[in-house]
Amino acid sequence: MFIDLSRVPDEGQEVTLGVPAERLPLDKSELPLVDRVELAGRLERVDDVAFHLGGSLAATLELECVRCLEPFRLELDEPLDLLFLPFSVNVGPGKAGKPAENEERELKDEDLAVSFYQDDKIDMGLLIREQIYLALPMKPICRDHCQGLCPKCGTNLNSSSCNCAREAVEPRLASLKSLLKS
Ligand SMILES: [Zn+2]
Ligand SMILES: [Zn+2]
Repeated sequence: MFIDLSRVPDEGQEVTLGVPAERLPLDKSELPLVDRVELAGRLERVDDVAFHLGGSLAATLELECVRCLEPFRLELDEPLDLLFLPFSVNVGPGKAGKPAENEERELKDEDLAVSFYQDDKIDMGLLIREQIYLALPMKPICRDHCQGLCPKCGTNLNSSSCNCAREAVEPRLASLKSLLKS
C-alpha cells in the first residue's frame, strides 16, 4: 500500500482507500482494529519535494473500558491535514535528527502535522498506523458516564446494582475497620 509520488499530477489526485482491518500490515495486539479502515482525501504537490494530504480517516477499534473493563467499540473519524516531506538519511554533524533540506522551510500553518516519505513513496500502512495512534484515547471509556465496577464486589454498576454500592468504602479504610473489629 504505497502512493507513488512521482506520479502525482500537477493538479493533484484523489486518494481513497478502503481496507478490511485484517489486511492492514499491523499487529492486532497493539492496534485492535476491526471492520474496515477508510481513507478519503486529496493529495497535492506543494513544491518540488513537499506534498499535502487533506481528508479524513475512519476506523473502528475494539477497546477495553478502563472503568468497567468491558470491551466496546470506538469509532474514529479523524481529519487528515498532513504535509509530507522527504526523509533524508544524509544527516551531517550538527544536524542530528533533523531531515536536511527542510530546516529552511517555513511552515505557514504551525498546526500542520509533518510526516516523512522515503524513496518517492508514501507508505499508507504506516500513515494509517501513525494517525490512529495519535487519535487513540489514553484512557478509553465505553460511555460518557460509565459507572465502573463496585470496588467491593466487582459488580458492573452499569447493568446492575449491589448492596454495597451505596456505602463504597476505600480499600485501606476497609482493612482498618476489620482491624478495629478484632
Ligand atoms: Zn465502561
Ligand atoms: Zn458491590
